[in-house]
Amino acid sequence: MAAAKSPKPVKHTAFCYSFTPREMWYFLFGKKICPRCGGKLRKHKGHVTLHGEMPHSHDKPIRIDTSRVKYYRYQYACDSCGAVFTLGKLAGTEK
Ligand SMILES: [Zn+2]
Repeated sequence: MAAAKSPKPVKHTAFCYSFTPREMWYFLFGKKICPRCGGKLRKHKGHVTLHGEMPHSHDKPIRIDTSRVKYYRYQYACDSCGAVFTLGKLAGTEK
């Protein structure tokens, strides 16, 4: 009998953060206020796994295994209305 599938954490081969200067500024100093209702936003750290690519990799020479890149991204969720915004959206770099 097959054992129940246990959710094994994916082993990542690399990780990266991607912040534009604007996003960095918002992350550090911006007012974390919901654009929809003015409520308080709560930060969530999440990640996506990218396969065989690195965001903004044209900037730097790549000598790492990019088969599974753990790409961290931040999201903010509103306590009052439940809306979720990405950091890029709040900083105005993402539509
Ligand atoms: Zn809200």
